Amino acid sequence: MPKRELNNGPVIQKEKETVSQMIAIYCRKKHHRKELCEECLDLKNYALKRLSLCRFGEEKSACSNCKVHCYRKDYREKIRKVMRFSGPWMLLYHPVFSVKHLLKK
Ligand SMILES: [Zn+2]
Repeated sequence: MPKRELNNGPVIQKEKETVSQMIAIYCRKKHHRKELCEECLDLKNYALKRLSLCRFGEEKSACSNCKVHCYRKDYREKIRKVMRFSGPWMLLYHPVFSVKHLLKK
């Protein structure tokens, strides 16, 4: 397989920030940690890696709308839980952030 450049444009950067925030909120509220626990850190690393490798790169839409299921099943279930839990908190903590993200859908 030919080696590809990792995604690193502004859209991907923003998505990485969003997913990191959401996992941080989830861990803080669900696992009661100040720092990410091992499980959440693992999930975050995985999510960031998927974004770096996303085949749509800067053209990507919201992951929840994506036709390509690039997440492994167990991680997909975990990230879903995080999104469902942290979504409302994101609106509270980072309104501009989330609204922009939602408008993209
Ligand atoms: Zn955690």
